[in-house]
Amino acid sequence: MATAHSNLGRCIESSLQSQDSVRSDESRVRSTGPMGSWESELTSIQHALKFVLALKDEFVCPVCRGVVLNPQQNSCGHIYCFHCLQGLLEMSPPSGPVCPVDGAVVTPAEVFQDNCCKREISNLEVYCTNFPACTSVVTLHRLQDHLSSCPYEQLQCFNVGCRAALQRRHLQEHLSSTCPHRTEPCPHCQQPLPLSLIQDHVLTSCPDVEVHCPSSCSQKLPRHKGQRARVKLHEDAAVNHHMLLVLKSNTHLEQQRQQEVQTDGSLLDGLQQEVRPLLQQTSNHERIICTAQLEVQQVSRALGPGLEELEQLRKSLDAVIQEVSETEALKEHLGTLEENLKRHSGLLDLHAAQLHRNKQHLQELEATSYDGRLIWKIDDFSRRRDAEVRGQRRRV
Ligand SMILES: [Zn+2]
Ligand SMILES: [Zn+2]
Ligand SMILES: [Zn+2]
Ligand SMILES: [Zn+2]
Ligand SMILES: [Zn+2]
Ligand SMILES: [Zn+2]
Repeated sequence: MATAHSNLGRCIESSLQSQDSVRSDESRVRSTGPMGSWESELTSIQHALKFVLALKDEFVCPVCRGVVLNPQQNSCGHIYCFHCLQGLLEMSPPSGPVCPVDGAVVTPAEVFQDNCCKREISNLEVYCTNFPACTSVVTLHRLQDHLSSCPYEQLQCFNVGCRAALQRRHLQEHLSSTCPHRTEPCPHCQQPLPLSLIQDHVLTSCPDVEVHCPSSCSQKLPRHKGQRARVKLHEDAAVNHHMLLVLKSNTHLEQQRQQEVQTDGSLLDGLQQEVRPLLQQTSNHERIICTAQLEVQQVSRALGPGLEELEQLRKSLDAVIQEVSETEALKEHLGTLEENLKRHSGLLDLHAAQLHRNKQHLQELEATSYDGRLIWKIDDFSRRRDAEVRGQRRRV
């Protein structure tokens, strides 16, 4: 890294002068400094600058590595851009700001504007920033002037609402014929208006557009310009014409009304004709309903006695059912009795057989030749025998 000491030597006079001014009013330099100077306008393109000759190291800022803009020289002899020096002072460590090249302390009171370097740098030749489209070569301090008229400089269309960006050489055509937000004169009143509003203006408010006469005659009148006076004039001149129009309109309305009345009358006739058969049908239906009601009454009258009979029959049927169930019970009882009878007659048969055997035995005994008297010693023998025959239990 070279220093600016050689420059200091060559330009000692001017440097000393500026040093005095910086020292005498340090706060002014630090707060306003080079604001508005050509250097401050180049800050944004500082690193895009292309110099015709290679930039000398001594003109490269050790802080931002760009060409030094508005050089400020420290006591160590190094120069920095004005805005880079501001940065050094603001972001310094607690021990105080130091030169980034050699670590020398930066004392604001000893820093001065290096007008000698400033002059040399301002005269360096630089290509236009629109190179290669623009081949102009200018000195650095003239670059901003050139850019303000360079035909290749990119510009924003300045019509409100348009975001197009074009080179200066194309801007004029865009503004006058292709920008959708351009201003054009109204074809009727020549008032300049944004293109998008002209149609609405012509339809609703352009004073020179002709509109129909408010009395609906075929004539046209300008919309606003002296409108009232012109309408009055026209109305006075065309009063007969307007009266005729009113008369014609009234006649037409009257004809329409008569036609409507006729149409209504014929509609009414048609409706009446349709209603008549309906009324006839209704009376027929009423007659049918009366007949049906009579028939219903007769039928219910004829049914009356039959219903009573039916009721009696049902009662007697109930009685019969009752009797049948009683008979069933009796039959069951009869069955039991029959069984008893069978059992008794069986027993009776057994007794009769036993009796028969006894009788035979007796006859055998009688026929046997004992002393007959022993047998007949049984008391009441003949009575007991009779009882046996009748079925009583044997007592022998
Ligand atoms: Zn230094
Ligand atoms: Zn710098
Ligand atoms: Zn240019
Ligand atoms: Zn535009
Ligand atoms: Zn107009
Ligand atoms: Zn009219």
